[in-house]
Amino acid sequence: MKLSYEKKDVYSSLDEKQIEEAKKYSREYMDFLDKAKTEYLCTKECIKILDKAGFSNINEHSSLKPGDKVYFVNKEKSLFIAVIGKDDLSKGINIVGSHIDSPRLDLKPMPLVENHNMAILKTQFYGGIKKYQWLSIPLAMYGVVYNEKGEKIEIAIGDDDDICFTITDLLPHLASDQLSKKANEFIDAEKMSVLVGNLKSKDAKENKVKENILRILNEKYNIKEIDFVRSDISFVPAFKSKYIGFDKSMIGGYGHDDRVCSYANIKAITDISKQASKLNKTVVSMLVDKEEIGSVGNTSMSTQAFDMFIKDIIKKTGNEVSELKLYYNSKMLSADVTAAIDPDYEEVSDIPNASTIGYGISIEKYTGGSGKYSASEATAKFTSEITNIFDKNNITYQFSVLGKQGKGGGGTIAYILANKGIDVIDCGTAVLAMHSPFEVISVYDAYMTYLAYKSFFNS
Ligand code: MN
Ligand code: MN
Repeated sequence: MKLSYEKKDVYSSLDEKQIEEAKKYSREYMDFLDKAKTEYLCTKECIKILDKAGFSNINEHSSLKPGDKVYFVNKEKSLFIAVIGKDDLSKGINIVGSHIDSPRLDLKPMPLVENHNMAILKTQFYGGIKKYQWLSIPLAMYGVVYNEKGEKIEIAIGDDDDICFTITDLLPHLASDQLSKKANEFIDAEKMSVLVGNLKSKDAKENKVKENILRILNEKYNIKEIDFVRSDISFVPAFKSKYIGFDKSMIGGYGHDDRVCSYANIKAITDISKQASKLNKTVVSMLVDKEEIGSVGNTSMSTQAFDMFIKDIIKKTGNEVSELKLYYNSKMLSADVTAAIDPDYEEVSDIPNASTIGYGISIEKYTGGSGKYSASEATAKFTSEITNIFDKNNITYQFSVLGKQGKGGGGTIAYILANKGIDVIDCGTAVLAMHSPFEVISVYDAYMTYLAYKSFFNS
């Protein structure tokens, strides 16, 4: 009898049919990733998937019964989704929670400036980025603007056009001062301006390049400079996702953190909903915003809009349970990515406790950094319940923590739900080059992530 534990890769354990399914899943995921580069677009794409699967807005329902499939759209930037089960809500619900915001560059409120005959847009970075990675790459511009009449205008330029944008980096010939600085200092965030124009307006008297850009924006979108203040506009990488490797085993793309788990989440709940009438426990998917900046604000996981959604379900199903009791008996997978061991930087990982790309969904019993400060930790009992569900359903999984002690760390939305009394464990896909414009994951880990969430919903 073998007593030692050995982790296994996903690919070797799959038969031909499952491998084909994993490949098909990866193509659908890549299509989603390319269409959903911001939380607005992610919400929009997910609503399309939900509507197609027969879900409807919870506000259209005065009452709910087992088998009903509903969602709540929180300010166009996050989603709460539920399929109502047969069991009494006092037994708790099964939740999978992921986030749909990714690190990027946002516009400042008054961004447009002209300098040396160039029009540039000033940016504000969002989330934990290594700034140099965002220079000299093609960028696309996405967002919404409200004009003076309060009309919403949607902007999407750079992916499906013959134009895109970029932040110019300093040439190496003249960078000796810059390159002698420390890596966290050598790019000044205030110098990360996006290049957007170079031609002079024929009729403006001054700031002719800036005026020309404002004219183009006005013709195309009917907006003025003041409308930038009433906008949520972001710059994201302008390239599409692509398979990586001779063996097509991996996917490179922008925003795997955390759209790889978010897509698995939405796919799992829509799959479950096809047999909604057989479902015992009510299941909930959450796709939230603002995780990358600490889960603050009314579209983040910390918002009471989530409690409102749960209260609404309790009321409309005619249950008597308090939402506190419901939370106490509920279980959740915090569906977020983790770091994969990088062969060039293995010294930051504690190898027996780190994720290997291609070895299945990663379970993190606890997150946080050194000393478990601010960590969200699952109990031994709940960890046992989850591994049992995965074992029963042939899910390939591995265990990890985010790096060696003293090397940094990171959190997820897990603690917010754990603080409500819910049993929560972190569980998601391992990523190489996380938070870079081109993150890498395994096709087979992504597929396993989806199967894992599905098995949890069904448990
Ligand atoms: Mn994340
Ligand atoms: Mn992140």
